[in-house]
Parts: sequence; C-alpha cells; structure tokens
Amino acid sequence: MLIDNHGRVINYLRLAVTDRCNLRCFYCMPKNGIKYMKKNDLLSFEEMFRLIRVFGDLGVSKIRITGGEPFVRSGIMSFLKEISELVSITEISITTNGTFTLDKISALEKMGIKSVNLSLDSLDRERFFDITRRDLFDRVMMTYRKLVNSKINVKTNMVVMDGRNIEDIYPMLELTKYDDVSVRFIEEMPFNGTEGQGNATIWPAEKIMKYIEKKYSHQKMMDSPASTSLNYKIPGYIGSFGIIPAYSRTFCGSCNRIRLTPQGTLRTCLYGEGQLNFRDLIRSSVTDRVLADHLIKAIGNRANDGFEAEKSRSTTLPPSESMATIGG
Ligand code: SAM
Ligand code: SF4
Repeated sequence: MLIDNHGRVINYLRLAVTDRCNLRCFYCMPKNGIKYMKKNDLLSFEEMFRLIRVFGDLGVSKIRITGGEPFVRSGIMSFLKEISELVSITEISITTNGTFTLDKISALEKMGIKSVNLSLDSLDRERFFDITRRDLFDRVMMTYRKLVNSKINVKTNMVVMDGRNIEDIYPMLELTKYDDVSVRFIEEMPFNGTEGQGNATIWPAEKIMKYIEKKYSHQKMMDSPASTSLNYKIPGYIGSFGIIPAYSRTFCGSCNRIRLTPQGTLRTCLYGEGQLNFRDLIRSSVTDRVLADHLIKAIGNRANDGFEAEKSRSTTLPPSESMATIGG
C-alpha cells in the first residue's frame, strides 16, 4: 500500500497521455493553442505501461486516462486494451471531450471501461462554440446519447463560468430527469495556459448550490470516501448531480491521487510543481525497483493540501499552465 506523509492511501493515477487537443476551451487553452511538446519528449505507450505496472504493484488500482484529448493520440485503443488486461488495475476511467469517442464506445464497453467523464460545458450550440471555439456540438451530443445508452457509467463535466454558461445549469440538471447520468459542476481553476490571467469572477461551490436551490430541492447522496464532488439527487429524477470545489480545495484531506503528465512528470498535487520526471529515469535505464523507490519517496513528501502545494511553487505567480498539459 502507498501511504503518504499525511496518512492518505494513494491508489489512483491520473495519466495524461497527450497534451494535444482539437478543441480550444478558453478556460484551458488560449485561442491559438499552446506550444505542444515534441513527440519524443512525450512518454511512449510502452513507457506508460511500464510505469502503470510498477505503480500497480505498489497499490495503484484505479487509472483515469486524460490529456489533452486522449483520443487524438494514435494507438490509444490498443494501449487501453493492454491496461484493461493488467490484474492490478481494477478500474479504468476516461475523461474526453467526446469529439472522437462515438465510434469507440462499443469497444470501450467490451474492454470493461468503468466510466467516462464527458466534458460538456453547454447544451446550447452557440454557447458551446463560444466556449470550445469549435463547432462540434452535435458530435458531442451524439456521443453523450450513445454513452448514456451503454453499460459505461457516465458523468458530464461543466466548468461553471460567469457570463458564459450560467444559463446552462438548469438544463444540465434536467438531463438527470430521465438519464442515468451524474452531471457535475466544476469551479473554474486558473490553469488556462495564459500567464497570470486566471478568471477573477469564480463561481464558488456555495454560489453554484444557492443558484440550484432557487429552483430545485435536493437530497444529499453518500459521497465515496475520496470523492472530489459533493453529490445530490433531485427527488424523482433518475440521475444525480455533483459540485466540485476544485478551486476552493475543500477535498484535499481525503486525496488519494497522483498525476503523470504527458512528458512523464509526477505531480503529487494539481496545484504544485512536478516532483520528478519518470521519463528521464526510464530513459537512463533504471530498474523497476528504482522507479518504485522514487515513487515511494515522492509520496512520502506530499503537500498537505492544494494551498500548501501552491505556496511551494518556485514562482509567486498563480499556477497558469494549460490543463491540457496536466490532465485535470
Ligand atoms: N480533453 C479532455 C476533456 O476535455 O474532457 C480531457 C482533458 S481536460 C484537461 C480534463 C478536464 O479538465 C475537463 O473536464 C475540463 O473541463 C477540465 N478543465 C480544464 N481546464 C480547466 C480549468 N481551468 N478549470 C477547471 N476545470 C478545467
Ligand atoms: Fe481540449 Fe479538454 Fe482542454 Fe477543452 S478541456 S481544450 S477539450 S484538453
């Protein structure tokens, strides 16, 4: 078992398989995109697989595949199949923008992918375009529908933004009336690839809740122990909704996760800087034991929470790298 210096069990890896993406969601990337890493600087799938195996032997049993957009990286389906066959990994989830996912849903179902988080920031075509800067709303909605009709658990992620999609909160909740889906509302974080330009008008979790309560009554659901979302149900509705205080960071006390960026940097907290680079270690031909020792050491030195991690950064500027380079 991997236990950090604050007594938290670490069993969950979020793996960003690429920094590339076909959308330009303005809360994540500038209009002209970000400077992508060179192909050779990215972890290869073989290198990722080796790390998953080593981490799995230490107790990491849950993996989320994210990015950038995971489905723009060629070879992703064979990679998913390979990790779905690893005994140590009991749960695989994927976060996707849904634009290249539609024709893969049956294969994902067959592999036993447990859940898909679909980014869906608006149910209105124009607002969707305003946010993502791409006209792909219909494709994403087709993906949504097919996912909901599959065996895969579906969650939607909506980053709540003043002046952009507040009017989508109620329609989003209405999705839960007939669909077995969890719609989640996320506080915007400053990771938008635009230095020092975090949005000053964050909608904190309490404000989102107050807005929901103006129209809906709700029942609190039992949250799983390491859940980042506070989960609720509207009486009589099939699905549920969750609010993620991603910027307020009230969930750090039960954090069970680590992150690997596309170039192999381990981040033991989203708000901190990378601890060490596993790609460089692998490419210097170290053994699995050495990789494992490095992970154990980094986990023994985690920040207590996202605020402490942020303070430990080498610059006083707020974190500003694009979420596509971290994975969310
Ligand atoms: N491309 C995939 C997608 O959009 O689902 C996966 C990668 S994306 C970086 C992962 C998640 O991070 C998405 O749900 C997205 O909404 C969220 N995200 C990106 N930038 C964010 C920000 N600045 N604040 C809050 N959430 C953000
Ligand atoms: Fe791409 Fe996802 Fe970032 Fe949007 S949030 S630009 S879909 S990586």
